[in-house]
Amino acid sequence: MNQYVIAIDQGTTSSRAIIFDHSGNIVSSGQKEHEQIFPQAGWVEHNPVEIWDNIREVIGSALSKANLTRHDIAAVGITNQRETAVVWDKNTGAPVYNAIVWQDTRTQDIVDKLAADGGVDRFKHKVGLPLATYFSGTKIKWILDNVDGARAKAEAGDLLFGTTDSWVTWNLTGGSTDGGIHITDVTNASRTLFMDLETLAWDEDILEVFGVPGSMMPEIRSSSEVYGTVHTSQLLRGVPISGILGDQQAATFGQAAFDQGEAKNTYGTGCFLIFNTGEEIVHSKNGLLTTLGYQLGDAAPHYALEGSIAVTGSLIQWLRDNLGMISSAPEVETLAAAVKDNGGVYIVPAFSGLFAPYWRSDARGAIVGLTRFVNKNHIARAALEATAFQTREVLDAVNADSGVPLTELKVDGGMVANDALMQFQADILGVAVVRPKVVETTALGAAYAAGLAVGFWKDLGELTANWGEDKRWTPKMDDAERFRQLRLWKKAVTKSMDWVDEDVK
Ligand code: ADP
Repeated sequence: MNQYVIAIDQGTTSSRAIIFDHSGNIVSSGQKEHEQIFPQAGWVEHNPVEIWDNIREVIGSALSKANLTRHDIAAVGITNQRETAVVWDKNTGAPVYNAIVWQDTRTQDIVDKLAADGGVDRFKHKVGLPLATYFSGTKIKWILDNVDGARAKAEAGDLLFGTTDSWVTWNLTGGSTDGGIHITDVTNASRTLFMDLETLAWDEDILEVFGVPGSMMPEIRSSSEVYGTVHTSQLLRGVPISGILGDQQAATFGQAAFDQGEAKNTYGTGCFLIFNTGEEIVHSKNGLLTTLGYQLGDAAPHYALEGSIAVTGSLIQWLRDNLGMISSAPEVETLAAAVKDNGGVYIVPAFSGLFAPYWRSDARGAIVGLTRFVNKNHIARAALEATAFQTREVLDAVNADSGVPLTELKVDGGMVANDALMQFQADILGVAVVRPKVVETTALGAAYAAGLAVGFWKDLGELTANWGEDKRWTPKMDDAERFRQLRLWKKAVTKSMDWVDEDVK
């Protein structure tokens, strides 16, 4: 009885349910992709109802594959794509608009208008974030400003906002029919632009500047405590929901990077490097975000510095879907391996501007260094290398902010299956890159947070003992070559900037 914990991973491309045992090993899982809706250039949406349907389905498949029932599950943990905003009617449970996804850039005008008074960093000291289309606050405002009747309903107290953790929790606990709980955790709240890093409460003044009624906002809870139990209408009825962490913070937790000075980089659609700064709030001077790392119950929260890179794995998807150069992501390795170097080509995948450390919304993608010699193998190689170069720039920022250079980097995510990329990453960083045995660190982190709250795991030490090294790549490139490559990369980045002007935005 109660030998397992289930994690629900509501991601950008799919939703997963993964069941873990006490050693942190995967027992079974279910996964389902949802539609990526692109109504126009720069817009990305998901259907929240489809996501909720998929969550129920994947919970069912994870349980049935392992022949388990709710009686075997000690706790439910939730992790999620972070800044994606859902606004729904609390009386009917129906979303008033599709979820606006973190990559969506439609709110640039909102950002520009808000930044006209005080610049993009006007709230940064309080909330840790610059004004940018990336964060959910701008997306809530867009929905209230643009969806018929939404503002009036919100002001009447009828609408709720949540990132997908809130949406899933509210539905799992009874939704509109039976008192669903409307909560989020500190890590997700720290991505809205509205949470004060010190008080861990919504900032009334900022909400007012954005015109977002406080009644829409979920209650902010810790990342690990019993929030409630799953509603009787659901398969997991009665099981406590006891952990919520945004996906990148969950991966950090799943990597057992619990202490100050530890870091991980996740290589998926984008790349997200998180550096644990312990109980200290560190304000970046180098283009990083200040964010919540985790909070366990009543204990003091852990903060983090984060370098977010918008496009890494999705550049490989673009080679596949938009250029038709490959038919599956791993094929990029074969193409790249056919040439000894990038042939002088650099790809800066600034499809939605540049995130860390530049935060330039006027940048767009650039392929530079083209000659008659260049072929698709070089392009494939340059596409992979772009991930490593972007990560290097973020790590430089982390090292500059912390003053203590990292000596190795823990990695996870879909792209770390690519051996050549990981070797190049170690070469370009000049430090070792280390992959753990369980690479589903995001789901594992959510399971850990949930399991800790119900005593399934007794303390962080027990979780650290679960972490095991699978593979390590050490740098082989000489310094001169590394610096030559970095210089060219930085020059390429300058070519992507100042591309979008007012007229063509
Ligand atoms: P997410 O959780 O963001 O949806 P994943 O961690 O599942 O992403 O990683 C998927 C990403 O990794 C995709 O963008 C895909 O293009 C990329 N990817 C998968 N396999 C490889 C590979 N062998 N080489 C390079 N990129 C890969």
